Amino acid sequence: MAISQHNNVTMKRILVTGGAGFIGSHLCERLLSEGNDILCLDNFFTGSKDNILHLLDDHRFEVIRHDITREIFLEVDEIYNLACPASPIHYQVNPIKTVKTNVMGSVNMLGMAKRVRAKILQASTSEVYGDPDVHPQREDYWGNVNPIGRRSCYDEGKRCAETLFMDYHRQNGVRIKIVRIFNTYGPRMQPDDGRVVSNFIIQALQNKDVTVYGDGSQTRSFQYVDDLLEGMVRFMDTEDTITGPVNVGNEKEFSIRELANVVVEMTNSRSKIMYMPLPENDPVQRRPDCSYARELLNWQAKISLREGLLPTIAYFENLLSQRK
Ligand code: NAD
Ligand code: UDP
Repeated sequence: MAISQHNNVTMKRILVTGGAGFIGSHLCERLLSEGNDILCLDNFFTGSKDNILHLLDDHRFEVIRHDITREIFLEVDEIYNLACPASPIHYQVNPIKTVKTNVMGSVNMLGMAKRVRAKILQASTSEVYGDPDVHPQREDYWGNVNPIGRRSCYDEGKRCAETLFMDYHRQNGVRIKIVRIFNTYGPRMQPDDGRVVSNFIIQALQNKDVTVYGDGSQTRSFQYVDDLLEGMVRFMDTEDTITGPVNVGNEKEFSIRELANVVVEMTNSRSKIMYMPLPENDPVQRRPDCSYARELLNWQAKISLREGLLPTIAYFENLLSQRK
């Protein structure tokens, strides 16, 4: 057991897979600041060393270059399983690998959790609801997912991962937590990953056309990364009998056209909106029902879209100025 007492703080040894990615790097930073030992595991497919550069000098932070589709054995108390490309552009580069990361990766991480008796949290996604015909989405809704489309490698991969987590729990008593993350944004999103918040900010900062797919009436709810971390960490600390799934997202819903207008206004941009074709199986409407998270974790998203866009815009402004 790696838990130890140091300066009256209970330190845990925590593995974060996908720790060099957007959400993973913020999570490593937060868990480190709470006095834990962090193993950041990543294959650097979409993650980057720049995201974790500022943590490397901390002796309680270690980086392991590894792919979770292969077995590994590490003595840890907790595992946050975030490894998986999250943006459609990236997860569709090699869809078979995306399925393997979700399925074989989950088997490997769950097998390790079983052996070392670690608690393990799965970063699942609102994509398990697919193009939902129930609105807003509660955890007991089973979803409307196309099993053979271009998004299926991710959506079905994440659904199968949830199945594996539940079966390891029922069959082997592994302590699991499944969190369904809704669209999350913030500093360290990759500039080239095609997600809507980063795309719009970068286009607006450069006074280029803002690319709205379809007529922009489709909706999403956008959660700032700090709200997500608070929800995930509280959930990890719940009793062992609590497995989830639990939705973690912001309940305020925006159309993509509204988002475009807010970003153009906040960046004082001269950009115009350019309408482009809607990608295949693009969900029409998405908003979490977070009643369960409120009841279970006493948690709800607190950071408004405009509040969260401020540091995100500042991050991309800085990134673009370095490129000049
Ligand atoms: P990201 O692409 O920035 O991070 C994913 C990280 O996983 C990267 O560092 C990547 O290099 C690493 N990785 C990918 N495949 C790997 C493998 N086989 N082995 C080891 N490392 C691997 O994405 P993110 O936005 O930080 O997402 C993190 C997690 O949260 C993902 O599992 C994603 O599905 C989930 N999620 C994110 C969102 C969101 O809006 N950002 C929404 C729902 C769910
Ligand atoms: N989108 C858009 N313009 C862009 C990128 C995305 O209009 O430049 C739309 C996309 O079609 C989708 C929404 O924004 O309807 C959110 O896309 P994202 O890829 O960020 O997340 P997801 O579709 O996975 O929720």
